[in-house]
Amino acid sequence: MTLTELNDQIRKCRKCRLWHGAKKPVPGEGPLNAKVMLVGQNPGAEEDKTGKPFVGRAGKFLNKVLAKNGFNREELFITNIVKHTSPKNRKPLPDEIEACAPYLAEQIKTVKPKIVVLMGTVAWQAPRLAGVEYVETYHPSAAMRFTKMRKRFDEDFNALKNALV
Ligand code: URA
Repeated sequence: MTLTELNDQIRKCRKCRLWHGAKKPVPGEGPLNAKVMLVGQNPGAEEDKTGKPFVGRAGKFLNKVLAKNGFNREELFITNIVKHTSPKNRKPLPDEIEACAPYLAEQIKTVKPKIVVLMGTVAWQAPRLAGVEYVETYHPSAAMRFTKMRKRFDEDFNALKNALV
């Protein structure tokens, strides 16, 4: 499946209740040859408005950590385990995660990244595909707020950069 076909499916998705309250689905973005795929929880208010992943506060923090560790955001594929925002930004429910996770699996099969970085406890629930390397780190919103997590988050991206060279 191509990314365009996949994005169309995500746009038309009615498999759970979340599409109902969302303005725009956020399939994710990035090049087909991305070596790294970043996976967050689900879109927040800014992402819902723009249709783009990680463009709000957490996204700005993520951009800083990426740049500090020598990553160019445009080279990465950035997405979420759940593609629609949720009421009052609540955590996606188990059935919503289950309904949406196959889209992430298809994105991984299509983009074929070397490493998939699961950011935060919701993303950690992603079913693992054989032959794919997964790394778990904190969600940028948590890393932004708590010093210990921020340090670890930064170290994880530093280690990731070194693993790619
Ligand atoms: N938080 C997420 O998990 N994903 C986004 O795209 C934005 C904020």
